[in-house]
Order: sequence, then C-alpha cells, then structure tokens
Amino acid sequence: MRPFDYQRAADTDDALIALADRPDAVYLAGGTNLVDHLKLGIIAPNLVVDISRLDLEQVSELDDHGLRIGAMVRNSDLAAHPLVRANYPMLSRALLSGASGQLRNAATTGGNLLQRTRCVYFQDASTPCNKREPGTGCSALEGFTRNHAILGASSSCIATHPSDMAVAMAALDAEVIVLTENGERRIPVVDLHRLPGEEPNRDTVLNHGDLIVAVELPAPGRGRSTYRKIRDRASYAFALVSVAARLDLDEAGRIREAAIALGGVAHKPWRATRAEEVLQGAEPNRESFTRAAEAELESAQPLPGNAFKVPMARGAIISVLTELAGRSGSSEGADDDG
Ligand code: SF4
Repeated sequence: MRPFDYQRAADTDDALIALADRPDAVYLAGGTNLVDHLKLGIIAPNLVVDISRLDLEQVSELDDHGLRIGAMVRNSDLAAHPLVRANYPMLSRALLSGASGQLRNAATTGGNLLQRTRCVYFQDASTPCNKREPGTGCSALEGFTRNHAILGASSSCIATHPSDMAVAMAALDAEVIVLTENGERRIPVVDLHRLPGEEPNRDTVLNHGDLIVAVELPAPGRGRSTYRKIRDRASYAFALVSVAARLDLDEAGRIREAAIALGGVAHKPWRATRAEEVLQGAEPNRESFTRAAEAELESAQPLPGNAFKVPMARGAIISVLTELAGRSGSSEGADDDG
C-alpha cells in the first residue's frame, strides 16, 4: 500500500475544501470498500479525508412525510429504524440482505451508494480493466461473467453495481443530496450511477470532491412492496438478480401503479420502466406480469456465462409481482406499505 496523508474533516465545508485542490484525494466514511481497495492496490490516493465523524447520522421525518437519511447513518441502524421498517419495508429488507452484520454496522448510507463493482478483474490489479485503468481492456469479456451485466453494458465494461440498498432506493424514487463547490445538488438515485459506455472508470455523475450528505425518500407509496434477492448462497453474497417492487391496485382490482427496480443485471440499479408501462392499468395476472418482464428484458444482451440471468430475472419479476398481487396464496415476504 502506498503511504498517504490522513486528515479528519471537522465539518462538510472542511471536507469540500480538503478535496478541492487535491485530485488524488478521497473521502473515507465506513471504509468497508475503500480500505479493501487501498490494500489491493486498486487505488493509491495521496490524501484520505475522514468524513466518518461528520454530523450526518440523523434519520428525520420530512414535512411531506418523506424521510431524510443522513449520509453517515449506518446500514444496520437504517434497516432497524422504526420509520423505515414501518413505511419502507422494501428498503429494510434490501439492507438486511446485503453483506454481513459486521459490515452493515460499519457501512454508511453514502458509502453504500458509492461502493464499487466486485468484478473479480477490477479487484485484481494484475489484470487489464478499463474501469480501474482506462484503455487497458476488459478481462471479463473473455473471462468469468457469472456476475456480470445483461442490460446496458458496453464493449468497454460489463460490470454490475453491487448495492442492494440502491436498488430499493431506485424503486422508491429517492433523491441524493450532494454538496458541491457550487452549492447543493439533488440527484434522483436512478440518475446517480452511470451506464459504462466508453468511460467505465466513472461510476456516477458526481464530480471529484462532491459530498453526499443525505438521501431523501418521498412519502411512502400506496400498495404492497418487497425486495427479493437471488444469490449463490443464503448470506454474504452479491445478487445474481434482485427485484425491488411496489404494486398498487385500484378499487376495481387493476394495477394503478407499479414501481420496479432490478439489481445484479446492470452497471447501475436498473429501473424497469418498460415493465412499469406494460403494467399500468393492466389486470394483475400472470399474463400481464410475463408481458412486463419480457418487455423489460427484450434488450438484454447476455454472454454465455451469464445467459441464465435472463430467465432468472424474468422468473423473479413474475414471482414478486404475483406475490404482491396476492395471487400466490401466500403473502410471505410482502409488506403493506400504506
Ligand atoms: Fe473491468 Fe468492467 Fe471489464 Fe470488470 S467488466 S474487467 S470492471 S472493465
């Protein structure tokens, strides 16, 4: 590991100033991802600015009954918060499905959003990787692709975003509050992360030094919601496919609104807008759920090593929607949000 300077930020202004003229400086929050990267030689900053003691640890209800979550709120505290459990069970489930208890105790809300892909080649500094070293190539294209993207990938990078929390926040229409050198900026979670395109080294739309200070959730939506994660083992594994979904039926039993986001399938939490459009006003039955899933996955471009994700995602979408519609004969896993 290359030596670096360490500085503890006294407040958010101090943090912004610390990174302003230091292009090789990074923020340190919970450290659950960054410290691994330092040890593995994936990054070699000359300054680490510790923001973990900033006064950003509050969860507070907003006037419109939404929720403001400070960027330093720990994942385990957020999952257990009474307002999250009562009003946003999808988010609580997503948080509890991620990592391990120890990691959730340390990981922060802001850091969870900014965690980087677990592509094995990205984490192996001896292999070519366009995300780690632009222009060197993508080792995954001819390699191990089980965990890689089927939607929105490019010839430069097929990595997936690893966060469960961010998938639920994408389905919840959450917004990220960011302090920049030009003032405050609000970014919908669905727009925070980028597709790889020709610049897979850029995970998000944030600029160097931008500081996430909070995430705001709108007032809870109507209907039932849940988060389901499919992975290779029961705990401490990233999603092969995950589905965050909310389904609201009208008085006639038709679908008034559906909100769906997918994890494990793209370089960012994937909001399933095509599926949502198909479901608007439809009967909540297997036929419409299948049409919705197929519309969303029509543009999938899997590789031989991850082609299984297409039927897996289709099945997961159909199964979750069926559960939320109460047509499975079981409500296990689904929660009433409203
Ligand atoms: Fe690197 Fe992306 Fe290719 Fe993985 S998929 S090796 S992160 S460029």
